[in-house]
Amino acid sequence: MSLLVVGSVAFDALESPYGKVDWTLGGAATYFALSASFFAPVSLVAIVGEDFTAKDEAVFRGRHIDTEGLERAAGKTFFWAGRYSENLNERVTLATDLNVFAGFKPKLPEKYKSSKYVFLANIAPDLQRDVLKQVKGRPKLVALDTMNYWIERTPDELRETLRHVDILMINDSETRQLSNEHNLLRAAKHIFKLGPSTLVVKRGEYGAMMVDKRGVFCVPAFPLEEPHDPTGAGDSFAGGFMGYLAGAKDLSDATLRRAMVYGSVLGSFTVEKFGLDRLRVLKRSEIHARARHFAKLTQFKL
Ligand code: AMP
Repeated sequence: MSLLVVGSVAFDALESPYGKVDWTLGGAATYFALSASFFAPVSLVAIVGEDFTAKDEAVFRGRHIDTEGLERAAGKTFFWAGRYSENLNERVTLATDLNVFAGFKPKLPEKYKSSKYVFLANIAPDLQRDVLKQVKGRPKLVALDTMNYWIERTPDELRETLRHVDILMINDSETRQLSNEHNLLRAAKHIFKLGPSTLVVKRGEYGAMMVDKRGVFCVPAFPLEEPHDPTGAGDSFAGGFMGYLAGAKDLSDATLRRAMVYGSVLGSFTVEKFGLDRLRVLKRSEIHARARHFAKLTQFKL
């Protein structure tokens, strides 16, 4: 079933202890779309500037990604720069230039409006809401990601958007920031009052945790000997998770748990190389092999 995503398509500058790239294609919606498209067709809504070439756009070609909703505008593409700490667990944002996103008024192509699965990737909360409003009827599932940048700058818009969301998918520090609670279970209770009925907390090398009224489910991160660049791991996690759900067309607890594993699988591939380098060449067979590896990794007898 088709999966709609709105979010950033960007150019990134990245620095980690493993190296540095000054200019590479990135953006939350890009990582998400590539990851999700292994499981379900994706409809992309975003905006790029004049510096975004046909060569850049080629990353979406040959995959199940519809780019009719990728608008081109005069000006520069969204730009983000970040630097990671020695252990890759912390990062500082060095630059966030919204550029063409500042004046973006998303307009959904007609065929996107019947989407049943919607992912509001990291971007201004009012743009996320604008897109959601254009979807006809009530989607089966709406999930949202955001980050400190929006939690700090646009808290009221974010709260308004959250009222229409089923699953909030954010990292641990953002969960704490949004809820003012250090403990993640208490944070979940707080977040349920804002609208979402499920919280998925992405915890970097510690994996991910899903909390809903049925309880808690945890999945580890895949142990990697040589992680290189965590950029986009969260968006790839979200892509694996939402893509799997849209492909499965089912929201049972067992399916949601498997979606958590596929999220972690996609996130783990992304960190193996810089930027999109690993996702660009990833094969479906590698995804399923790693999912089987996850089953072994977490199996035990009582
Ligand atoms: P992640 O590492 O999963 O948090 O995602 C990193 C991607 O998010 C990068 O490719 C950036 O281009 C994009 N990004 C960073 N900051 C923002 C922001 N404030 N709004 C939208 N996208 C962002």
